[in-house]
Amino acid sequence: MPSVAAPGGVTGVAVYPGRPGSVHLTRLPSPVPGPDEVLVTVRRVGVCGTDKEIIDGQFGTPPPGSDELVLGHEVLGTVTAVGDHVRSLTPGELVVATVRRPDGCPACRAGQPDFCLWRRYTERGIIGLHGFMVEQFVERPEYLIPVPPSLEPLGVLLEPLSVVEKALRVARAVQQRLNRWQPATAVIFGAGPIGLLGALLLRSEGIEVYTVARRPAPHLAASIVEAAGGNYVSTEEQSVADLARSLPNIDLIFECSGSSEPVFAGMSILGGNGVLVLLSLTGGDRTLSIPADTLNREFVLGNKLMVGSVNSHQTDFTAGVAHLAHFENLWPGLTGRLITTRLNGLEEGVRIRDAGGIKAVIEIGG
Ligand code: BGC
Repeated sequence: MPSVAAPGGVTGVAVYPGRPGSVHLTRLPSPVPGPDEVLVTVRRVGVCGTDKEIIDGQFGTPPPGSDELVLGHEVLGTVTAVGDHVRSLTPGELVVATVRRPDGCPACRAGQPDFCLWRRYTERGIIGLHGFMVEQFVERPEYLIPVPPSLEPLGVLLEPLSVVEKALRVARAVQQRLNRWQPATAVIFGAGPIGLLGALLLRSEGIEVYTVARRPAPHLAASIVEAAGGNYVSTEEQSVADLARSLPNIDLIFECSGSSEPVFAGMSILGGNGVLVLLSLTGGDRTLSIPADTLNREFVLGNKLMVGSVNSHQTDFTAGVAHLAHFENLWPGLTGRLITTRLNGLEEGVRIRDAGGIKAVIEIGG
């Protein structure tokens, strides 16, 4: 039998979903891996906008039979024990975990839970399953991706990176409609972790990147974009329309501002045969008035494409591992600058709602 966690339970950071500001420490029974499972000791966990929405009571579902949900879906941990049937991982290896678990719909059955049709999926730390803001957890090996020791400081960024990896994969897949698609110019709306990781990803592929966000430079996000050879544009200093007029054909747009308004600005500046990928999960129910005829006509005449993208697949994490290593070769130390806030231990972790900066992480152990 595999070894198990110390008796007496493990500590985690949880909320009562739907109750704003209910972040608290909780105790869970010590996780014990079955023969087909892996015990992971958590090193660190990232905090993202979705966690903040859950804390604000706008999102999140506890596991069946529980009134609380352990947060956390961006994790780096160490394999601590493996069940008797597990061959693919060994104790001591570093791993990250994927987020979504399938619900048996046709897409899930075809191995693509990130394209789930029934939307009855579960997601660790978000919907129906406890997350990773906890000392130890158990998971099946197919949901764990090995990370080389050299990427230990950056592995916690793999989940958000996987989201933009999927966006680029989807853009490339839909562009197979063209005999040849070589995006040269991209615009990214948003300079949060997703927007910045998207900028690094597209720069590493040699694409000219224009990151568009509100706040005028200088600030860290702008300097990260520029250090990777990208351009930072503040909408307080230049309108999106003016920017577009100064650019060649805009082949690709990632919308990751967290707001719905830039979607329509994106539609209006997208170039011929271009792709606009929507990544923002907007919580509200805002309405806007838009130039519908113009947008429609330009989309039709320009063969333009707009596609939503959520979550990510194991293959996106694997691609992310290779890209993180590539980022380090291209720009040593740059990616790590995204991690701006470190909370020490789960006791400090309950203060995540106030964590500012680009990316906050909780150092848990491991
Ligand atoms: C996560 C995704 C998840 C989505 C919706 C995001 O924050 O990165 O993996 O699918 O939230 O719940």
